[in-house]
Amino acid sequence: MPSPHGPPELKHLDHVLVTALAIKRRIAGLGDQLNAEYASKDMMVVAIVNGALIFTADLLRSLRSPLRLDCLRASSYHAGTKATGEPRIVDQMKLDVRGQHVLLVDDILDTGKTLAAVACLIKTKGAASVKTCVLLDKKARRMVPFEADYVGFEIPNEFVVGYGLDFNERYRNLPCIGVLKPKYYAG
Ligand code: 5GP
Ligand code: MG
Repeated sequence: MPSPHGPPELKHLDHVLVTALAIKRRIAGLGDQLNAEYASKDMMVVAIVNGALIFTADLLRSLRSPLRLDCLRASSYHAGTKATGEPRIVDQMKLDVRGQHVLLVDDILDTGKTLAAVACLIKTKGAASVKTCVLLDKKARRMVPFEADYVGFEIPNEFVVGYGLDFNERYRNLPCIGVLKPKYYAG
């Protein structure tokens, strides 16, 4: 039975930060930059799932290179909105990165720990180059010195959901980026 208080799945959201149209336009721009960068390189995209799933799927379709794709799973958020401890790589890649020009794709650059750790891992596995592309960048939260090579949007220090990003595993399917109501930040 429908809830009398509106769709229950949207009750945690405060407002929209980035619209679906803005994301679509920005991805076209990132695609142009990446097509120039990787025009003559053997390209491999490595997506950090689940968060990067939707961004990667849309970004890939703006790329012309006959690239290879692999995914890995890293985990530092166990529940709620607080990162706990160091990132763990909980599911390894299947493809060999040796000699490949790897583009690492993630949903959001926050403390920087995840991408710093994964980039380091891929370099030690023998990639020819490692660059990073994130949809969102929360610069104010950085704890390790790490900058992405390609950034969709710089955003303020708010907990965001949608377009792959979750709150307790929900909201990944939102087509836009929304801000969680501050009362849920404490997680
Ligand atoms: P970092 O290692 O840079 O602190 O964390 C990166 C990961 O933390 C992201 O891939 C994402 O899974 C999660 N994360 C960081 N900030 C947010 C946020 O505002 N919303 C959501 N849903 N996840 C976030
Ligand atoms: Mg993530």
